[in-house]
Amino acid sequence: MMELMHLMRQLKMEYLIANLDALCEQAAKQELDYRSFLAEALATEWAGRNQKGLESRLRQARMPWIKTLEQFDFDFQPAIDRKVIRSLAGLAFVQRAENVILLGPPGVGKTHLAIALGVKAVEAGHRVLFLTLEEVMNRLKRAQQEKRLERQLQQLTYPKVLIVDEIGYLPLERQEASLFFRLVARRYEKGSIILTSNKGFADWGEIFADQVVATAILDRLLHHATTLNIKGESFRLKEKRKAGLLTKAANLPQPEGDR
Ligand code: ADP
Ligand code: MG
Repeated sequence: MMELMHLMRQLKMEYLIANLDALCEQAAKQELDYRSFLAEALATEWAGRNQKGLESRLRQARMPWIKTLEQFDFDFQPAIDRKVIRSLAGLAFVQRAENVILLGPPGVGKTHLAIALGVKAVEAGHRVLFLTLEEVMNRLKRAQQEKRLERQLQQLTYPKVLIVDEIGYLPLERQEASLFFRLVARRYEKGSIILTSNKGFADWGEIFADQVVATAILDRLLHHATTLNIKGESFRLKEKRKAGLLTKAANLPQPEGDR
């Protein structure tokens, strides 16, 4: 019979190798039967591999920071229907290649929610990629100059969830807008886009330099989409205000019922 260590190496069971002594000791203590011991051993290997896959997918997602849904204070942002978020967290929208559009002024938690949904998708085993619109455009424009646009579009269609953050801060030229349209059209009904914008749809004509292109983009994006319009107060300003860094004299908007 082959030696155990050799077998485990051949089978690339690195987590079993690392935990073998502890597993055997525990099995002896608990007087496990053969089946239970085998299950424990394989479960250890499985958990290790799972964790490794998760960490690697999380790295590949290139999130600028990590925030979870559990860290989101829904009481602070009553404009958000938590039932909708809970349902999105179930990730049926990813299975169905539907989109999520998060709209609202700065600081209301759009990026936080986009990242948190992205983390959920990573945990469920999906490939996710986070890019700002600026990064998306840089990639597409460079690829076009270098005559490899097709390949770049393919790469941006590979992740099951593409997060495109901060639409609206950077106005696009007509040429750029039509590049973005090609990306949206390419992903249409194939993979989800989670998109954040500080501008309402009515202003998208301006962002994309062309009402026709903007309409075409919106048409594809919104066909299967959940839109959350977050009409709330900035969490960032709230925290500063709490710390006494801002006062009403600073002439910032003070919503009613400010807690
Ligand atoms: P936006 O993208 O809408 O400008 P962010 O998602 O970047 O806003 O939020 C700004 C900061 O405030 C982030 O650190 C985020 O985690 C935090 N934040 C925003 N809203 C909430 C909330 N309701 N509960 C907890 N943290 C929040
Ligand atoms: Mg943001």
